[in-house]
Amino acid sequence: MGNADARRFDTRAVHSGESRGESRGGSPGGSGNGRGDFYPVSTPIYASTTFSHPDIETTDRVLGGEEPGYSYARYDNPTVRAFEDAVGSLEGLRGEARAFAFGSGMAATHAALAATELTGGTTALAAEQLYGSTATLLVQVFGANGVETRFVDAYDLGLVEKKVAELGPRAVMVETISNPLLRVADIAGLAGITRAAGAALIVDNTFGTPYLQRPLDLGADIVVHSATKYLSGHGDLTAGVVVARPPYDAAVESLRKLVGGVLGPFEAWLAHRGLKTLSLRMERQCANAREVAARLQDHPKISKVNHPSLGDHPDLETTKRVLSDAGGLVSFELDVDPEEGRDAAFRFLNALDLCVKAPSLGDVYTLAIHPATSSHRELSPSRRERLGVRENLIRLSVGIEHPEDVISDLEQALDRL
Ligand code: PLP
Repeated sequence: MGNADARRFDTRAVHSGESRGESRGGSPGGSGNGRGDFYPVSTPIYASTTFSHPDIETTDRVLGGEEPGYSYARYDNPTVRAFEDAVGSLEGLRGEARAFAFGSGMAATHAALAATELTGGTTALAAEQLYGSTATLLVQVFGANGVETRFVDAYDLGLVEKKVAELGPRAVMVETISNPLLRVADIAGLAGITRAAGAALIVDNTFGTPYLQRPLDLGADIVVHSATKYLSGHGDLTAGVVVARPPYDAAVESLRKLVGGVLGPFEAWLAHRGLKTLSLRMERQCANAREVAARLQDHPKISKVNHPSLGDHPDLETTKRVLSDAGGLVSFELDVDPEEGRDAAFRFLNALDLCVKAPSLGDVYTLAIHPATSSHRELSPSRRERLGVRENLIRLSVGIEHPEDVISDLEQALDRL
């Protein structure tokens, strides 16, 4: 296989996780059913609940963790492992951490938080600008077990340092790029603070993907993904991944075995297939988003555009330092009377023809949503206002279509406002 780690990102996206030549006839140790040896180019879907070995002593050693191997699908599965190894390789693993696939991004987030031993009496510090369900998970599920969650403006490092010193949190949870205003976190700066205080830094890299940034390289302890989004990229599955350094990797593995939120082999295979084109998709989606953002900025019916490529973005300097490109999401405010924000947003969304009106992001299709009634629906109007999630705000996840077709669709919908 050569030195797989030395290969470039795009190459690893295509080949990582595949173990060509190590298995025969689609089953390790198999003979190819009398047709000679052959090696599947794509790891097969191992739809098998359990795995047998040449002798029960081997099974005993595998179950006891003394020998690597597969035993039971809730613990491990070759198709799932291929996807995990590929994500791990892209996130920059060098043998000191492991990736674990889950049935959803939320299952992955739950395991990552629990792996830091957030137990009764401990505190979690979370970015104010966090995916709504992650905030609710912390407050409702961990809160019910006596964990206190405090929120902080994660883009003010001085404030984060002060809160960490004051609260002594066990875990600090942030996102690489926030939803829906697309603020960009300084992961290296945050990691300096958490390391010094002995807190675990958990980074949700769903919006960033390892194509834009690798948080473990910048000092994060755990990376989580909703692989439902950019990693798989086609809007056809639900999945999550945790990439964890020791000692958190062992805790994540144990939690996954006990709670059982493992990804199934069919979804793992689809996700792995999608991952192979991550670089191509991201390159195109970032370029399209830059073009869309620039053109919307000049439109008379739009009062504000948020995209980290734009000169007025509050984290422009951080973006240049930490991201390889500005990402595929754009959000913008319609220039209407504040009282009419929701009506105008709904009229605009209903007038779209090409862009799909639907939640989620990171798909090959351009998706458009109204954050105030979707991702931020559970928040009070005053909290939404404080976070800058106004009724006239639209979020676009720009796809891989021709950018002129996306822009024409947006323009014709704006004309009908
Ligand atoms: N993290 C972020 C940033 C998200 O946007 C989402 C879903 O939108 C999740 C986590 C949860 O992922 P899933 O829907 O796969 O559980």
